[in-house]
Amino acid sequence: MTGQLAAPERPLRIAIIGAGPAGLYAADSLLRRPDITLTIDVFNRFPTPLGLVRDGVAPDHQSIKAVARIFDKVLADPRVRFFGNVTYGVDLHHRELKRLYHQILYAVGAQADRRMSIPGEDLPNSFPAISFVGWYNGHPDYRELSADLSGERAVVVGNGNVAMDVTRILATPPDALATTDIADHALEALRQSRIREVVVLGRRGPAQASFTTPEIRELGRLEGVDVAVDPRDLELDPASQAELEEDRTAKANLKILRDYAGRTGQAAPRRIVLRFLASPVEILGEDGRIAALTVERNELVVDANGALRSKGTGQLETIQAGLVLRSIGYRTVPIEGVPFDHATSTINNVAGQVVHPNTGEVVRGEYVVGWAKRGPTGLIGNNKPDSAATVAAMLADLPVLQRLGDDGRDPSRVEALLRERGVDYVTYRDWQVLDRYELAAGRAQGRPRVKVTSVPEMMEIIRAGR
Ligand code: NAP
Repeated sequence: MTGQLAAPERPLRIAIIGAGPAGLYAADSLLRRPDITLTIDVFNRFPTPLGLVRDGVAPDHQSIKAVARIFDKVLADPRVRFFGNVTYGVDLHHRELKRLYHQILYAVGAQADRRMSIPGEDLPNSFPAISFVGWYNGHPDYRELSADLSGERAVVVGNGNVAMDVTRILATPPDALATTDIADHALEALRQSRIREVVVLGRRGPAQASFTTPEIRELGRLEGVDVAVDPRDLELDPASQAELEEDRTAKANLKILRDYAGRTGQAAPRRIVLRFLASPVEILGEDGRIAALTVERNELVVDANGALRSKGTGQLETIQAGLVLRSIGYRTVPIEGVPFDHATSTINNVAGQVVHPNTGEVVRGEYVVGWAKRGPTGLIGNNKPDSAATVAAMLADLPVLQRLGDDGRDPSRVEALLRERGVDYVTYRDWQVLDRYELAAGRAQGRPRVKVTSVPEMMEIIRAGR
């Protein structure tokens, strides 16, 4: 240990686990510090970087994907190395990272779904939105999803932007999706789809919905799709009315919903029905597949924290449906060696600094960003300030980390370790090979890209292009 940490003679060595927006915004923020000499190694489970920009953002929202340019610049920076196809906890372990790096930043996102915990939830053709989104976006984990779109009605549970995404994809005429980077298998299945109606169930009222205004407006602009809302669902109780006065988004949403409720004489081939104050209490099967849902009417009650929450009224109805997608939020899963807060499903942290849950003691040199830090909310851009805040905490720690030894923190060690283990890691140049392949395939079809959706196939293309 000689010299000042993060000075040219003693570079700060950082590992980032996860190459999604949160991790790459953090890297960007670190790279912008001219006073810090550092190297950043970004590890990612898949050969493809970009996380939700590739796997989450809906294919008909290409403009949101423009942010990829910023991340591309980060990955191309000579101080950054990309290690794709490397699974944390399997190919590389916590104890090894502690030896190889001064700081570890977890940017692992929220990769699991939340459950409704109602009977019938696991019937075939009842899926979490995370799987359905992964399926149409060509995520390798979900390419085999056997969604049956032969029923006439689908029900989407939840009132967030993911619910809006899956509803739109189910209702959009496939020809409009054919010009996007939607996975080929999903486009083919959607071309065969017989779904004519998508019912969206919000458990609370329209004033509490968490979708944002452009997303709810967009539904009304889909060609060949009517949007229906029962005006009675938009009558607000006094508490909701008071909430609305304080919430510009909710106010703007309600204006649009009232417009939908006033639309008459609609007869488009497809229909979206937005329902509020309604929760499924059971999914009913017939011959091993979904036939219907029992839905309970809710009312709003004030909870102990003064928030309005939904409460069943006991009033039940049956909605026939062949597909159910629950879009009720994502969940971070615990990872090897890192304290986890099971109550919030996040990595246990205070302002991005990992801490032990019982003692509150700081885990020196370990940090978290993104959904694994704050829970699964926020747009991609919200990660920028959030990641910058964690980076500030990382840099504030440098005087404390100054005492760490540098033995073994040689950048070539991790490459050797992975090679020894037979891990065929994917570099930034390798990713460019695959990226160019997908872009070229897209150009040939007049699409932004055609995604390769299986890891073996990705690796074959990369190996051929090395
Ligand atoms: P979200 O915005 O938190 O919405 C989750 C929804 O699920 C809420 O309406 C919630 O209702 C409902 N819910 C939770 N538990 C439920 C249950 N047991 N039964 C019925 N409903 C239940 O989450 P998200 O839609 O997964 O989106 C995650 C984040 O990504 C959000 O910040 C979103 O804005 C962002 N995103 C943005 C875009 C975009 O910009 N276009 C696209 C996709 C996602 P309560 O409010 O009653 O809890």
